[in-house]
Amino acid sequence: MLISGLLIALLGISSPVSTGPDYSECYENTFCIEAEDTGNRVDIYVRSLVDWEVTIFLEVEMANMRPDTAMPLVQSMPGKKRTHALSLKVRDIGYPWSFSYNLTWIPGDAGARHDADAVYELPFAKGRSFAVGQGFQGRETHQGTYAIDFLLPEGTPVHAARGGTVVDTADRFTEGKLDPVLKAAGNFVTIRHDDGTFGYYVHFRHQGVAVRAGDRVETGQLIGYSGNTGYSSGPHLHFEVFSTTKEMSSRTLPVRFRTGRHGVTYLEEGQRYRR
Ligand SMILES: [Zn+2]
Repeated sequence: MLISGLLIALLGISSPVSTGPDYSECYENTFCIEAEDTGNRVDIYVRSLVDWEVTIFLEVEMANMRPDTAMPLVQSMPGKKRTHALSLKVRDIGYPWSFSYNLTWIPGDAGARHDADAVYELPFAKGRSFAVGQGFQGRETHQGTYAIDFLLPEGTPVHAARGGTVVDTADRFTEGKLDPVLKAAGNFVTIRHDDGTFGYYVHFRHQGVAVRAGDRVETGQLIGYSGNTGYSSGPHLHFEVFSTTKEMSSRTLPVRFRTGRHGVTYLEEGQRYRR
């Protein structure tokens, strides 16, 4: 999960006529904050560089300025657009003004609603069957989490449970064991679904990811090879669907799968399912 913060400052004594952003700061090739000084106010925009939403949490310190919206600002910004975030009006024109901001952000739309009709494919090749280790709210490491562990041996092809746009991946990690130190060291793929939720697949083998950020993937498409990297007690694929929250966090969601013998169903721990 990407979260960044930065403090910047813009100072002025009014009146430059703006022909483009007077200030621009970009974050992880994902979006840029741009500020335009119009003389009696500064307009602040978020310009997205990607296809998916981000949610920002913005705090602003001001001198001789006032915001046109409640602070702190928490707002989800659409992908591939330049969106007005807020304006800071100069109180006493002709007198010096300044502001600085502190930004935190997270991928995703805090207003996204999971499509209630969505049915997921089992994340492996058609015709194959694997057992579920831990299921939703599993007692080992899934307490409070709607996640599924599929017991895939290392090197098993992993297929997208649902199509969308690849947001982020990692496949540089080599080590895996049940040690909290390795919680951020699992190779993964995150896919944004068309309803604004995300599918998260983790524990791919070293160099075992077959897609890149920005790729469009279809349901059932090969996305990589299972492994045992990160916080993991043995080879498996951990899969969860999550949405972003206004509290700058995420929550996992219970989802149903299409299965060979059991029809469309929530998956159960210990049960084996054929795709
Ligand atoms: Zn898991």
